[in-house]
Amino acid sequence: MTDTLPPCPECASGFTYQMDALLVCPECGHEWQPGGTANDDVSEVRDSVGNILRDGDTVTVVKDLKVKGSSSTVKVGTKVRGIRLVAGDHDIDCKIPGIGQMGLKSQFVKKVPD
Ligand SMILES: [Zn+2]
Repeated sequence: MTDTLPPCPECASGFTYQMDALLVCPECGHEWQPGGTANDDVSEVRDSVGNILRDGDTVTVVKDLKVKGSSSTVKVGTKVRGIRLVAGDHDIDCKIPGIGQMGLKSQFVKKVPD
């Protein structure tokens, strides 16, 4: 076994060792299940810069977006309050001022403080 064990998720110590199915940190005593440590965030929706988005967040649009079936455009910088995360290609459901209910893609928005 030449695998390098991952550092402790609690204190980032590199002196972790394996005990049965668990990894153990001698520095802080934390024990955890290895595997899926890096990126098991398939259910998480992230914005264009990697922030995790949640229901109710406020975002701004980072790219001009044409509204399907109309001549309107959602302009860069448009602030959208109270987003709702949904499953699918357009993973954000929201109401855009002056336009109405529509779906956005998370990669075209950025989370901002409300
Ligand atoms: Zn530790």
